[in-house]
Amino acid sequence: MKRKRTFKSYCLGIESTADDFSVGISTFGGEILANVVSAYIPPEGGIHPREAARHHAEVASKVLKEAFKKAGIKPQNLSIIAFSQGPGLGPCLRTGATVARALASYLGIPLVGINHCVAHIEIGKLKTGAKDPVTLYVSGGNTIVSAFDSGRYRVFGETLDIALGNCLDVFAREAGLRQRVGEPFGAVVEKLAEKGKRLISLPYTVKGMDLSFSGLLTSATNLLKKGEYKLEDLCYSLQETVFSMVTEVTERALAHTEKKEVLLTGGVAANKRLQSMIKTIAEEHDAEFCVVPSEFAIDNGAMITWTGILAYTHGVATPIQKSFVKLRWRLEEVEVTWVR
Ligand code: AMP
Ligand code: MG
Repeated sequence: MKRKRTFKSYCLGIESTADDFSVGISTFGGEILANVVSAYIPPEGGIHPREAARHHAEVASKVLKEAFKKAGIKPQNLSIIAFSQGPGLGPCLRTGATVARALASYLGIPLVGINHCVAHIEIGKLKTGAKDPVTLYVSGGNTIVSAFDSGRYRVFGETLDIALGNCLDVFAREAGLRQRVGEPFGAVVEKLAEKGKRLISLPYTVKGMDLSFSGLLTSATNLLKKGEYKLEDLCYSLQETVFSMVTEVTERALAHTEKKEVLLTGGVAANKRLQSMIKTIAEEHDAEFCVVPSEFAIDNGAMITWTGILAYTHGVATPIQKSFVKLRWRLEEVEVTWVR
């Protein structure tokens, strides 16, 4: 009997919304074959969008080559190209989009523009098995509490100013701390916070379901400059305050929606203290606590790849002429055709 030949379909995804340039390759079944990340670390100060974009352009071919090598496939084996279309920093997004367009048109395969925030939720669901969670997505650029309802991921609460990860990063920079590849500022603050004992009062700003971190950051930075408190105690107090704020909003979303899972995703999800707070509220509401593994918590290409597959197999494709980047593309604007 002649054996039927089966060909696997593969997607390559490009993430470039901010400081990370990353390429993921996955099968259509959700097997992640490669997830290569190159992080841009500024010599000093915050992320300068054009400098980060220059980094992305410089490392793009190296990261692509490494991803193909890891996945053990050739560009000609790809069926689709997915890319982060927004939200994010303009120059960074444009660099990733240019690479994605060039690849898709050279190979003659479809292009799929993906919302970065949706991708953080979808990779979390893939990696933890969560089906219909309330999601707390906390990263360097976003702080969003969301849940699926009537075809979209609805935003229940979000930051009104800076993101939670950004708050930790700026404080760490003001304190003269150093980050390294593999140990971002948030992780440095976490280590110091473990040694903190004294809880210093900081502004706790929850407005309805929304959050504000900028006043709290100013207050913590002012206390730091006064030099009256130990850095460990300030890190501890900062973490306790900001994590309590996001936990409060997540709990209210959980109580309102009565979902049975809570998913923690985004770069800050790596934090053990935040994990324990979210786990506590999940348990109190008889919901399962799910946290994305750290490789997929930070910005990564695999999440774009996987969401590209979900979108493409449910009728979404992005013609080149509509592939312009969307700097302020909100989570709830996306029609999530693959979830029922
Ligand atoms: P992302 O924007 O998703 O790439 O995530 C990066 C953000 O996650 C930065 O603000 C980091 O400081 C933060 N982050 C990474 N690891 C930790 C950690 N262990 N605790 C708190 N924040 C973290
Ligand atoms: Mg990042």
